[in-house]
Amino acid sequence: MNLNNASKDQLTQWEQQLSAEYAAIVARKLSLDLTRGKPSSDQLSLSDAMDGILKGNYKSQDGTDTRNYGGLEGLPEARQLGADILGVKVTEVLAQGNSSLTLMFQTLLHAVHFGFEGPDSAWRRQGPMKFICPVPGYDRHFTLCEQLGIDMLTVPMTADGPDMDAVETLVQTDPAIKGIWCVPKYSNPTGVIYSDAVVARLAGLGKLASPGFKVFWDNAYAVHDLGDSLPLANLMDLARAAGTENSVVQFASTSKITHAGAGVAFVAMSEANLKSFKQSLGAQSIGPDKVNQLRHMRLLPDLNALLQHMKQHAEILQPRFDAVLSALDTAFAGTDLGQWEKPAGGYFVSFDTRPGCAKAVVKLAAEAGVKLTPAGATFPYGLDPEDRNIRIAPSVPTVAEVVGAMDVFVTCVKLVAVRQQLAN
Ligand code: PLP
Repeated sequence: MNLNNASKDQLTQWEQQLSAEYAAIVARKLSLDLTRGKPSSDQLSLSDAMDGILKGNYKSQDGTDTRNYGGLEGLPEARQLGADILGVKVTEVLAQGNSSLTLMFQTLLHAVHFGFEGPDSAWRRQGPMKFICPVPGYDRHFTLCEQLGIDMLTVPMTADGPDMDAVETLVQTDPAIKGIWCVPKYSNPTGVIYSDAVVARLAGLGKLASPGFKVFWDNAYAVHDLGDSLPLANLMDLARAAGTENSVVQFASTSKITHAGAGVAFVAMSEANLKSFKQSLGAQSIGPDKVNQLRHMRLLPDLNALLQHMKQHAEILQPRFDAVLSALDTAFAGTDLGQWEKPAGGYFVSFDTRPGCAKAVVKLAAEAGVKLTPAGATFPYGLDPEDRNIRIAPSVPTVAEVVGAMDVFVTCVKLVAVRQQLAN
């Protein structure tokens, strides 16, 4: 199906066929949900052995009684795991509570309110604050900016990562820009891995941008490969080589490795930045939940054990991704109806409709019993200027449900596009 060259008669015929297909779908009274980027119960069950795993032995490797207060930096063995996931030195990483989003908020707050290089460096003392947001991107990053009064500027995501020409121009022309959001591996939502050249250019931003600029490197899907483990260039190594290591802060967590609501999160930054950050962290807490960190270390003692564990996740996720990608291929390959990437990991498939169609597709799908993430959610302020992007999250439904939901999705995409073309 190609709409650009289709005659009015052809479009009318397609519209009638698709309307009939859609009516038949509505009559099935489905109730399916492709909105949730979270692990399924089967995935969560892979880590159930953590329950009771300590068997009364609460001592960490260095003999710490994990039940007690203290240990602000996290257990040494948990920090080592975080360092291995993120590719940094153990002295550059903290192991904390269950949410990396909390650590992102705390890091931003530290930069805004206290300043990494002392009070004068606090962003709030320097006028307006802006962040670069590659789009489509992760809505919760945008929410963090909104919460802290940081304005957002968008740059396009490409198949290699953010459009770095646009990023470099922005940081050199606008001193209010304080940072950039990055999900470098299996990006949320487009699923791409940043190329080596993009990572090197991100590492160099600390030299081009105004002082205090930070790359917020949210490596939430660092080990979430569906097949072979695919490489990502090491940002901290590149930053060290460029002399910009203070411009990089990194995050990861076990949220989609063990139990999403009861995991361990990591933050990594240069030792100088960490010294500053620990001042505000130490005011907030005497120490993280070390018992939970120890439970994690007993289940996943090192990176190798963790990677083996991730293979079990991949076995559960792969058929769901296959169902999405095969439906998109069958319906849209070689057409002018939409574009998408084929992620080799992560949690999402991102689909771009023809301009001006995404909201109508989400609405039509909802009326046929298939919930999709609201159109626009992948853009700051919920505004997709071209109204194109829809994030598909297939992890929670069963494979049969994904197949059923995609059937509805492709019908809605076609119907909305044909109706739009007829109206033009
Ligand atoms: N970062 C990204 C890119 C995510 O997609 C998600 C969850 O969907 C998170 C962070 C949430 O991480 P956490 O559970 O560690 O707060």
